[in-house]
Amino acid sequence: MRSPKGLHPAPHWSHRYVRLGAPFVTPWQPTPLPAPHWVARSDALARDLGWPDDWAEDSGLLDVLAGNQPWPGSEPCASVYSGHQFGVWAGQLGDGRALGLGEMETPMGPQEFQLKGAGPTPFSRRGDGRAVLRSSIREFLCSEAMHALGIPTTRALAVVGSPAKVLRESIETAAVVTRVAPSFIRFGHFEHFAANDQPEAVAKLVEFGRTQLGLGLHATGPAALALLQDVVDRTALMLAHWQAVGFCHGVMNTDNMSILGLTLDYGPFQFMDAYDSGHICNHTDTQGRYAFARQPRIGHWNLHALGQALMAVVDDADAILALLDPYPTLFQQHWLGQMRAKLGCVQTHAGDSDLIHALLEWMQSDRVDHTIFWRRLSHAVLRWQSGAPVESAFEPVTDLALQRPPLDAWLQRLRQRLIDEPDAGTRMMRHNPKFVLRNHLAELAIRSAQSGDFAMVRDLLEVLQSPYDEHPTHEAWADFPPEWASH
Ligand code: AMP
Ligand code: MG
Repeated sequence: MRSPKGLHPAPHWSHRYVRLGAPFVTPWQPTPLPAPHWVARSDALARDLGWPDDWAEDSGLLDVLAGNQPWPGSEPCASVYSGHQFGVWAGQLGDGRALGLGEMETPMGPQEFQLKGAGPTPFSRRGDGRAVLRSSIREFLCSEAMHALGIPTTRALAVVGSPAKVLRESIETAAVVTRVAPSFIRFGHFEHFAANDQPEAVAKLVEFGRTQLGLGLHATGPAALALLQDVVDRTALMLAHWQAVGFCHGVMNTDNMSILGLTLDYGPFQFMDAYDSGHICNHTDTQGRYAFARQPRIGHWNLHALGQALMAVVDDADAILALLDPYPTLFQQHWLGQMRAKLGCVQTHAGDSDLIHALLEWMQSDRVDHTIFWRRLSHAVLRWQSGAPVESAFEPVTDLALQRPPLDAWLQRLRQRLIDEPDAGTRMMRHNPKFVLRNHLAELAIRSAQSGDFAMVRDLLEVLQSPYDEHPTHEAWADFPPEWASH
């Protein structure tokens, strides 16, 4: 094993969160991973981090990101948090299969690095602290895809694979994802110290969020309230993005909610194929708590859990509730903004909400493919606004319909609405992706990776990193899911 030469110039580690020390973090070392190899890397993220193009060559980073060599300057540690899982208090959880390496200064500002799957930590409970190739590829691809869609998310730098066996429902092989984010602090961090009667620790987290992460920095009044107000808004915005793009998270437990409003902890997530507001992507979610249409309300529920935790430092329930109450309105505003953008509109009309709800009603009863519908609609509006006759311009859209009359009526309303939005089509092409990480695409990439061929993971990454471009050589990835995908 080579010792890492590291990046040149060497990164500057700032370690603000690590410096909080106990009880927030516990120094810990990764467990070595046998015979590591690259599965995939995000050069786009490396560029954002200000790294040289050849960052992965000869830098020793393969061994570092496998957990086999220390990264000079890093200070590996695991953090403790608790949380509500499926609406029930779960008590202490913590970084059970993620290990923080610390925080680095980058052109994007300070970024924390985490190795997910680097072996057991003091918070692994009965788990093995490992991640499998399947889940690692899903998290890696989806993080980078969400980022390219303009959706707030943690990022992923690389997946490192290994022949090491891991027992899940069947025997799989181990992998480690390197995750990157300005902070991985979750609602559950605040809940943890509130539940353990450590108000001074909650206050420290608030202070950290405020001064180091800039949460509610410019608001006046008590720091915890300023922070909460900011988190409420960020959460509403994140949920608006998810609903607009048709993303189902699947496990919106409070320990999976980022204080920065970043999409975090990619598990059984799914981009919807056929539109169904009741869609449940997590097969353990028997009650449908995290069904697609419930996500925004769950965001609100989770914010109440955060508000409850902040009661440890601001003993003013009315003030906290007053900050939580605007959430539905904020969500609605962000969501309308997103949906208007999908319709290519810059102006706001009083009837927009009705127009959008009428469309969703049709989409629901027709179970139309979400991504294909919006993309074809974008092309149709573009053709129509470039002078094509209505009938031929919209044919690829109306071809999708099982029930034509309600769609025809709605398209009529849309064209009326777009009369004073002459550039709508052009804008729609930038707001309605051609490519999303459909489950079956992830599945195909995973299957070939499991047999040692990583080409599809890498090609898919490249396509998902510019999801609004045409990528004519990958037309099939923009097509309807195959029959087997629905099982
Ligand atoms: P998740 O369901 O991934 O949000 O994880 C919930 C909690 O279980 C977190 O504390 C994780 O760190 C922990 N956990 C999940 N999988 C494992 C594993 N394989 N080994 C150790 N801890 C795990
Ligand atoms: Mg989690």
